[in-house]
Amino acid sequence: MREELLRNPVFSMAATQFDLVADFLGLNDEIRERTKWPKRLITVTVPIRHDDGAVKVYFGHRVQHHLTRGPVKGGLRYHPNVDLGEVAALAMWMNWKCALMDLPFGGGKGGITCDPRKMSIGELERLTRRYTMEMIPFIGEDIDIMAPDMGTNEQTMAWMTDTYSTHAGRLIPGIVTGKPIGLQGSAGRTQATGHGVAFLACRALNKLGIKLTDATAIVQGFGNVGSHAAYGLSNSGVKITGISDVTGAIWNANGIDTRKLRDHVAARGSIAGFTEADPIDPALLLTQPCDILVPAATDMVITGDNAPQLKCRILAEGANGPTTPEADKVIDARGDIFVIPDILCNAGGVTVSYFEWVQNLQRFQWSEREVLTKLETMLESAFSRVLVFAERNKLSHRMAAQSLAVKTVADVKAQRGLFP
Ligand code: GLU
Repeated sequence: MREELLRNPVFSMAATQFDLVADFLGLNDEIRERTKWPKRLITVTVPIRHDDGAVKVYFGHRVQHHLTRGPVKGGLRYHPNVDLGEVAALAMWMNWKCALMDLPFGGGKGGITCDPRKMSIGELERLTRRYTMEMIPFIGEDIDIMAPDMGTNEQTMAWMTDTYSTHAGRLIPGIVTGKPIGLQGSAGRTQATGHGVAFLACRALNKLGIKLTDATAIVQGFGNVGSHAAYGLSNSGVKITGISDVTGAIWNANGIDTRKLRDHVAARGSIAGFTEADPIDPALLLTQPCDILVPAATDMVITGDNAPQLKCRILAEGANGPTTPEADKVIDARGDIFVIPDILCNAGGVTVSYFEWVQNLQRFQWSEREVLTKLETMLESAFSRVLVFAERNKLSHRMAAQSLAVKTVADVKAQRGLFP
């Protein structure tokens, strides 16, 4: 299994990052091995009937990286590239994210290999409900709590809640987070990840002494994370000059009106055909001059090839794993880019998921102001801890963030000991 996981490029990247951190922390072999490998790798087949009457079998996964500090937490992804290795890597990153934010969770991730853009709403509902049924032995509100990720949304979470609750014979809202508000979702959860990205990018601008209203940003991805990061940044006065999604990229040096773009996407389904900006090659978008570059799409997009060409001051990682270890080496050597690493930058989502779960367990609703204020306090504190640790130990921000997180998990593993 070790070799099989390491053959996957995304897992191999997460493992390389872990090894660097474990070397820096001087973890002994026992704790290193126990901290690195996932506790449970679950793969299920998910047969569903398509609208044309044919039955198709999908493969679904859930990786529970560890349960040392609490229940497993992390999203569920629907995407054609999903495989066990990628899900395991994402589960490992969720682990570090929860530990860095000091949430009482271990990390997990789920995924189904499918193309949700090509499936009808009925097919997606059957897929979600059957996957939830297959997962019933392995999940629970104090065991493993899923949430939206790429290709899934609050409707997916509503079906999961309904399937699980119908099976239990009572409503169990704490089984997933990222639910619709009417189904005991949390105020602020939808925009939480993007809001956190924008908040931290603005904090980085402050640190660099750049005025918000003088700054420009490019956002790769206009899904839940990218769109809310773009709205948050533009509400703070930052000019958004470039945006991309799966259909292409657009550019306007005078700034893109993100509200108009939101209406366009709501009507047309993508940014394609937006007339108040020019089309640009999506690969070139990443290397245009800007103050803030927000990769908010998928993993491994900042590579050893394009890292030397980056012209941003701040790299705010909205996606999970957007920067490869080769790119990290280039960025470290350049020394002119302020990196806000993924496990910090996009931690707003899981942090508000934690708030949602707490509200569900307490049967109580907080206001949006309460949620966002608490979120900003926790992000600010993690941001300061990472910056101070990086400065003190002469580390990159990524190494600092991951070291703080891995140490938190490794210490608890050592305290709990090995049993039996
Ligand atoms: N999928 C999101 C992430 O990667 C959120 C996970 C959650 O809320 O549990 O952080």
